[in-house]
Parts: sequence; structure tokens; C-alpha cells
Amino acid sequence: MDNDTINSRIAYTVSQMTLSRRLFLSMVMAGTALPAPPTWGAAEPDVIIVGAGVAGLAAAKTLMAANKSVLVVEARERIGGRAVTDSTTFGFPFDLGAQWIEAGRTNPAMAILKEMNVRPVPDRQEQAIYVGGTEAPKEEYARFEKIAIDASRKLVEALRTAADVPVGRVLVAQDPLERLAYAMVGPLESGVELGELSARDFMRQPETEPQYSVPEGLGALVARWGAKVPVKLGTRVVRIDSTGGQVLVVTTNGQLNAKAIIVTVPTGVLASGPFGFAPQLSVARREAIAQLPMALYNKVALSFGRKVIDAPADRSVIGLNRKQEAFDAIVRPYNREAAIVFVGGAQARQLEEEGTGAALGFAVSALAEIYGNDLRGLLARSSVTRWGKDPFARGSWSMATPGNADKRLVLAQPHHDRVFFAGEATDPVWATRVGGAYASGVRAAREALAVLGAAGAKR
Ligand SMILES: Cc1cc2nc3c(=O)[nH]c(=O)nc-3n(C[C@H](O)[C@H](O)[C@H](O)COP(=O)(O)OP(=O)(O)OC[C@H]3O[C@@H](n4cnc5c(N)ncnc54)[C@H](O)[C@@H]3O)c2cc1C
Repeated sequence: MDNDTINSRIAYTVSQMTLSRRLFLSMVMAGTALPAPPTWGAAEPDVIIVGAGVAGLAAAKTLMAANKSVLVVEARERIGGRAVTDSTTFGFPFDLGAQWIEAGRTNPAMAILKEMNVRPVPDRQEQAIYVGGTEAPKEEYARFEKIAIDASRKLVEALRTAADVPVGRVLVAQDPLERLAYAMVGPLESGVELGELSARDFMRQPETEPQYSVPEGLGALVARWGAKVPVKLGTRVVRIDSTGGQVLVVTTNGQLNAKAIIVTVPTGVLASGPFGFAPQLSVARREAIAQLPMALYNKVALSFGRKVIDAPADRSVIGLNRKQEAFDAIVRPYNREAAIVFVGGAQARQLEEEGTGAALGFAVSALAEIYGNDLRGLLARSSVTRWGKDPFARGSWSMATPGNADKRLVLAQPHHDRVFFAGEATDPVWATRVGGAYASGVRAAREALAVLGAAGAKR
């Protein structure tokens, strides 16, 4: 991104000066269970796609629209991957993974809403700031906005003189409010600590505003959108061999052949090694996988037996608790007696290690400091995500380590002609998001089409 683009981004975001949810970020930079298809689709499809997340489904739909036969092989018993909605537990749709379509004017994932004729709901949550259980005075809100603008300027300056730099070297908090503001850049937005975050990768991502959700939950929408794609569920791919005339795909349910393959699994899965490739992946690609590790961001959803949170519907609350730990929450979502608390980075890792009780305890304590201890006894239902422990995700989204933002382009290169790579981690601009997953799936499908066309022409 050149400096003009970065500056126009700041100008755009600064003009949106109401303190809406995630404005700070914009300034500084299945559910529905699906019936398994009865067959494996075409006996020998043109293209096999590994993973039925947004990237895999977008690739499959692009190829199907071009009259190619496809089969998606998915390890889970559902489609959607990291976009999944729990539509039953709370009486409102709880997106365990992706929830918002950010930068909605240009986000490639808006194509899903358009195709499904779903109207996006603009996210206009008012944000409140609390420190140690007490709401910050008015002056602190103004200072919070100034910290955001200054942070943006500092990052732009740093990238004028250096190819890349860890965000933590540029944004060094001098007081609690700065610490909160910077936590909204690092752990509570990017899922990593500031020292691990590439300023280049972070600033390449489009601003978050305007941000949209969908009434049924984003995961539920993705499940409906992908329902007609032929998917073999509950089938893990373990090896991809492209040394012969066809690509041989070894799965936990037998072997398959295809003319080409698109791999969409998260970098955490690629790095963990249950996947084998013949020929072996290049050193450059293995280095790219290592330098695009998974960030961690989890959600704790809670509902209460009766009204106990005195706040308007969909109120966004951020702050520092009495232990000076940063937190981010939405209280009374969908006008329900409920809350969703977000945790990220090192804290999310520690809470995952300690178990779901620890994450629940953190969330309840942060809310009780603000809304009173009564809510402790009124907890009715809860749900805690643990994306780091999920064997088919191994984290929440990919983050480039400092100096390695361009590794996304290395990962996106085809391997041995007929093995293509997609997934959010491979998109240079929309990485980390459903928009990146969608755009990468379409891109990889077009690459496969070019090869299939060339193969057809030779015959
Ligand atoms: C808590 C959380 C909140 C988020 N919030 C947002 C948000 O608000 N907005 C946003 O834009 N993005 C958000 N994201 C990120 C977003 O969910 C992802 O970027 C996107 O869904 C990734 O899609 P994908 O297709 O690239 O990968 P995935 O959805 O992970 O799809 C890959 C698929 O591959 C499957 N798989 C893995 N291993 C194998 C194997 N060996 N064989 C076969 N299949 C395999 C997996 O089960 C999975 O279904 C969030 C993510 C999380 C976790």
C-alpha cells in the first residue's frame, strides 16, 4: 500500500468520528447442519478441493460455474470451517468464528450476501470505556481518539523509512489508556501481542468500517450458500501426490484422483505436519508457512436468567479490569440478557491452557466489575471457543511475523503445476478475514481453470 492510500484511509476513518465499535481500528489502519451429499460427486472430478471453508466453497462454486466437476474433501462433519454459527444455545445466533464483514464497501465476501440476496446489517454499536469497573470520564474518550490518530501516524511514519517493523516497537504504551488502545490493535483485534505483529501486514489490511453482520449469523449464511457444493464430510486429507499424470489424494476414507487440487487448510494445519506432499514443498513455501503462524482470538458467550446488565442493546464495552487486563465485550446482543466477551493473544493462549472454566471466570469477573456481582449467580448458559485446540484450525487466523508480510504471496504460488493454494492466509490484502478466504478461492479456481484449459487444448 503506498503512502497516499494509507493517508486517504486515515482521512476517511478520521471523518467517522463517532466512537463506534472498532472505530479505533479503522483509524489506525453450522450452525445449520447440512445433510452429507450421498455420493463422492464425480468419480474422478476435474478438481479436488481440500477444506469446505469460505475459500474452498468459493473455489468450488467458481469451478462449477465453469462446468468443471469438483469434490470438496472436508475433515469436519460440517461445512463453513472458521465461519460457524450456534443458532440454538442462546436464542440468538452466536457466531463462534467470523461474525463481521469489515470494510463492507469493498470486501470481496459481500458477494456471498449478494448471491444469497441477504441484506447486510450495519454495525453501529456505541462504545463505552471502563477502567477498574468505572466508566472513563468524557476527556478520556477524547484522548482515546487522539491516541488512535497518533498511532496511525506513527505507523505510517515508521513504514516510510523501514520495509517493516514490529508494531510493538512503534506503539509503546506510556499509561493505562494507551495500553488499552494498543491492545485494541494487538491481542483484541489481531490476536497477537504487538511485538509479534508486522506493521506492514497490519497496515495493508483495509480499514474496518463500515462493518456489517447478517441477521442469521455469518456462519449460518455460509452454510446455506455452500449447501449445493458436493462435499465429502468427515474425511481428512493426509497426502497429496502430484508426481504422476493425475493428482493422487490420500484421505482417511480412501484415495481419489483428479486433474488438479486446491488446498485451503489454515497455515496452522499445514505447519502441524499431518499433511504430506510429493514432491515435497519448496523450502521457500515451508518458510512462508512458518512465518504466517496462527493468531489466537476466542469468544466467551454468556446468558443470564434475568435482566442484570443495565445497558442498551448491542453495547460495545472495552476497558481494563482491576488487574489492568484489557477486555472487549458486547453486552445485551440482540437485546438479550447476554454478553459476548472477546479474548486474544497471549491471554487467550493462557486461558485455553487453563481450560474453559478460566475463560468463563475472566469474562464473568470483567462484567461483574461493571454491572455488579449479582450476575455471577444468574449465569444461565455459556459457550467458550477454543480455536487453538481445534485440530482443523489450530488458531483463529494467520498473522505475518515482522518482515514477512510478502510471504502471503509465496504461499499463494502453485506447487508443481497442478497443486494450488487458497485460504485467507494467501491473500495479500484481505488476509485474516472471510474476504481473503473468498477472494483466494476464486483466484485459485481461475488458476486451476487455466491449467485445465491448457490440458484440454493439448488433447
Ligand atoms: C473467533 C474468530 C473470529 C473471527 N471473526 C472474523 C470476522 O468477524 N470477520 C472476518 O472477516 N473474519 C473473521 N475471522 C476469520 C475468518 O473466520 C477466516 O478468515 C475465514 O473463515 C477462513 O476461511 P478459509 O476457507 O480460509 O479457512 P477455513 O474456514 O479454516 O477452512 C478450511 C477448511 O479445511 C478443513 N481442513 C483442515 N484440515 C483438513 C484436512 N487435513 N483434510 C480436509 N479438510 C481439512 C477445515 O476443517 C476447514 O473447514 C474470525 C475467525 C475466528 C476464529
